[in-house]
Amino acid sequence: MKILTIVGARPQFIKAATVSRVISRTEDLAEVMVHTGQHFDANMSDVFFHELDIPPPAYNLGVGGGTHGQNTGRMLEGIEAVMLKEHPDAILVYGDTDSTLAGALAAAKIHIPVVHVEAGLRSFNRRMPEEVNRQLTDHISALLLTPNDVAVANLAKEGIQGEQVQNVGDVMYDAALFFGQKAEETSQILSRLALDSKGYVLATVHRQENTDDPKRLQRILDGFSRLARPVVLPLHPRTRQRIASFGFTIPANVQIVDPLGYIDMVMLEKHACLVATDSGGVQKEAYFHGVPCLTLRDETEWVELVQLGWNTLLSPADEDFLDKIAVVPAPGVTGQFPYGNGKAAEQVIDAIVKAFG
Ligand code: UDP
Repeated sequence: MKILTIVGARPQFIKAATVSRVISRTEDLAEVMVHTGQHFDANMSDVFFHELDIPPPAYNLGVGGGTHGQNTGRMLEGIEAVMLKEHPDAILVYGDTDSTLAGALAAAKIHIPVVHVEAGLRSFNRRMPEEVNRQLTDHISALLLTPNDVAVANLAKEGIQGEQVQNVGDVMYDAALFFGQKAEETSQILSRLALDSKGYVLATVHRQENTDDPKRLQRILDGFSRLARPVVLPLHPRTRQRIASFGFTIPANVQIVDPLGYIDMVMLEKHACLVATDSGGVQKEAYFHGVPCLTLRDETEWVELVQLGWNTLLSPADEDFLDKIAVVPAPGVTGQFPYGNGKAAEQVIDAIVKAFG
């Protein structure tokens, strides 16, 4: 059986790493990896292929840097051409980026079954490009593999249920377990950045709603200055560009670094006293590593983390934002774990082989 995998953005490389490892040791299963080129900087792309042992992509479509419409359109054309050449038995897409939607749409139109990993997540905010991508992808997928029960319930409310929906757990948890240990053994990032374990806050900011609105971005930077600790901020290229073009100054307690490889990132997550982020993946990784998280958004897809008390939603639009950010949240409840058993990637492959093998 041949699976065509579409990746393009940082979180997809990390998710694909866990599943590709299982594919490579499964008999009679071949994977053809297509990189759309959505993320193209070496530290947003190549580093993950090297560090996480992902097979080099057979195709790189070189589509990146355009608007959502330009990117999605050009990817659609490129992915269709690859599929017509490769004749895969199924196409595998991850998450909620333009690459996810382009892959799913190209495949569905020529009757190649679409497998969506991380199906069923919803923010219920259609102004987010990711929400549009994930809703549309779910509605044209043949097999929807969810990370948790909330996602299954979201799909049921939209009339998607039955055998095509399977709750396999979260492939990012597999990655956190596998690479978390490796990070402790090999990462030098704490000494390189002169950080004490549990003595700093790890922050990331890259969501369009935060980066493209100068008021929100300024408030987030002001908020970081209220944290009583050093803040490490691995800066996404879009955020760096916006900070420069708005002419903002970085607060004195904020240490900006280039985007990090996953191993160093995991190490920083594990040893932070607090994570402050607008990333979907980083919210969850904070929880996997037992670190409280402040989510700098109006809503989150990972609502179970808010219910468990590990994640506190704090909108930069909130009037009291600058006061609230200074209150360090306590850890949440333990003993419940909504994301599977760390073997989600195996379950992804089992489900695909059963459905289409
Ligand atoms: N990440 C990383 N280096 C960084 C920032 C993030 O390796 O400098 C990882 C992070 O650990 C997580 C993933 O990238 O696994 C999250 O990606 P991102 O925040 O770009 O996207 P989102 O999860 O919001 O879709």
